[in-house]
Amino acid sequence: MKVTEHIAQAKDTLISFEILPPLKGKSIESIYDHLDPLMEFKPAFINVTYHRSEHMFKKKADGAFEKVEIRKRPGTVGICAAIMNHYNVDAVPHLICGGFSREETENALIDLNFLGVDNVLVLRGDAPKNESSFEPEPNGHRYAIDLLGQVSHMNNGIYLEEDLVGGLKTRFCIGVAGYPEKHFEAPNMQNDLEHLKHKVENGADYIVTQMFFDNQKFYDFVAKCREMGITVPIIPGLKPITSKKQLSVLPRTFHVDIPTEFSNEILKCKTDKEVEEVGTQWLIQQSKELKQFGVPVLHYYTLGKPKVIRTVVESLV
Ligand code: FAD
Repeated sequence: MKVTEHIAQAKDTLISFEILPPLKGKSIESIYDHLDPLMEFKPAFINVTYHRSEHMFKKKADGAFEKVEIRKRPGTVGICAAIMNHYNVDAVPHLICGGFSREETENALIDLNFLGVDNVLVLRGDAPKNESSFEPEPNGHRYAIDLLGQVSHMNNGIYLEEDLVGGLKTRFCIGVAGYPEKHFEAPNMQNDLEHLKHKVENGADYIVTQMFFDNQKFYDFVAKCREMGITVPIIPGLKPITSKKQLSVLPRTFHVDIPTEFSNEILKCKTDKEVEEVGTQWLIQQSKELKQFGVPVLHYYTLGKPKVIRTVVESLV
């Protein structure tokens, strides 16, 4: 079922989770171990992130280094199929521009359609760690809106071969990313919102936000979107803080602020267990207020912390 259909039929705030594929070489059991404690909350859908390959330098037998491409977390499409089969729940694969040609994207979309996947979250992806700016693949997409265009085309039966007529019309519901604290490359919030609006005008059915720790930032973002005529559902992305290290890692990696009151509480903690308790309570409060605000879905980035997410979601029922 489409994410938008779940939202339209819901009588209460929905819950959804986001997971990462395991590192290459691990079994699907690691995904089930992660999700099993969360399934009693009946998530409407589960997102599975996509990871591009990284360029690395590997030492050869003669001592020289060669540049290789290594994908550390492959398997998004297979994990989606496994989750749908194992739990009978909708899976939402992320699709990224970075590292993919249009042909590879088309093949992935054909696989997803055959597997019965009804949703995709389309994203640009970031530059590889050792590169300073995002560059598309030869014959790949530069922006999420271009990838969105390819999915919309397939929803209309249009494929890359121009002479392919009467192609199957896929029925993907398309999600896109939004940034309550602005995307880090955008010159200003207004410019970023205009690009977001453009994605919606070109077929995005809903928005999932980057994580944030101050709900006011989300409320302001929703208000600005609505003022600009963006009417699709906006789903908040939520993540727990469970270690002091994240006080610097999260702002650096995701370009988000941690409110002073929250960071002060974390800094007072003596152990990571105490940090986890403070982070859990903060996320419970955020979730309760967002539910009260009327968000359609609370979307949790579970990333290795299913127990924390369990405590948070339990507190909402
Ligand atoms: P875009 O919408 O393409 O925007 C990128 C930048 O370009 C923005 O600054 C925007 O304002 C600007 N822009 C957009 N369109 C245009 C245009 N036409 N002309 C000029 N400028 C433009 N990354 C992964 O690799 N894998 C994942 O699974 C993944 N999941 C994510 C899930 C969520 C909910 C979020 C919020 C992010 C996720 N990311 C993931 C990270 C994401 O790929 C990065 O944040 C990336 O830098 C931007 O992606 P985007 O889709 O927002 O890009």
